[in-house]
Amino acid sequence: MYERGSTRRQLLKGALGAAGVVLGAPLVRLAAQTGPASAQTLKLADDLFVITMPGEANVVAQTTNGGALLVDGMSARASSALMAAVASLPGSGPVHTLVNTHWHPEQTGSNETIGKAGKTIVAQENTRLWLTTDVKWPWNGKEFKRLPKIAQPNKTFYKDGALDSGIRYGFIPDAAHTDGDLYVFFPKQNVLAVGDVMSGQGWPVVDYITGGWIGGIVGGLQRLQTIANDETRIVPGRGPVLSTKDLKTQADMYGTIYDRLSTMLNRGRGPSEAVAAQPAKEFEAQMGNADEFIRRSFESLWAYLSPDA
Ligand SMILES: [Zn+2]
Repeated sequence: MYERGSTRRQLLKGALGAAGVVLGAPLVRLAAQTGPASAQTLKLADDLFVITMPGEANVVAQTTNGGALLVDGMSARASSALMAAVASLPGSGPVHTLVNTHWHPEQTGSNETIGKAGKTIVAQENTRLWLTTDVKWPWNGKEFKRLPKIAQPNKTFYKDGALDSGIRYGFIPDAAHTDGDLYVFFPKQNVLAVGDVMSGQGWPVVDYITGGWIGGIVGGLQRLQTIANDETRIVPGRGPVLSTKDLKTQADMYGTIYDRLSTMLNRGRGPSEAVAAQPAKEFEAQMGNADEFIRRSFESLWAYLSPDA
């Protein structure tokens, strides 16, 4: 996501440099279309919704007796538009609980608002710890600043927990995306929110700096199959609502890729050789170019499987 964003910024900068006046008007319209004000709502049940905005991660909102529970909070720049969208849901009211599926800024941008309002922010303990420290990604130099204390999760857990209305949440210890991933399961509506452990839109970020790895993607998707049944609707961090069939398909796909990469690692190959071998070739028509994903995945194997790691 970040890379895509910065690529677009670079492209815009280049275009402006070349012909700024001519391109000015279309660029303004583009900004308006992709701005945070264009929230869309998908109704999953009378009290359960997915809120989306262009360029932002999915949010699940449950409305209860004049209040709202959110799973993830988009980025900071989208937060006020998100709060307005939540307030306009039927039966909604002030957010009483925000759940962070993991620490990434696309999920934790409303933490400060919710924390300052004195409300509950739920996260797995590892997610809280990442939010207390600065993080830097070596592959693109992106730096993430720690959150102020008020914005950090104030209700953490290690294994699992429950909220009102029988909503369950639990740690996904496989480190599919980070080492603090969690799911939230709404049993009455049979909806499972999984953050970026599952992607409905292209290849996921393999954030091995905070624990994610390709083996964890496989393990995490297998674990989710033990929580979901055939009718469960799964809300990923990005893209459309998915089914358990999608979950199984993805688990098999990442399993295949994992096996191929492990074999290459055992033969002493490096990340560039792994990319050149195109181990995800048959999936690219549907998923998009896999080069970046394969490189990160291979590096994540180094982090997890190399004897000197
Ligand atoms: Zn993420």
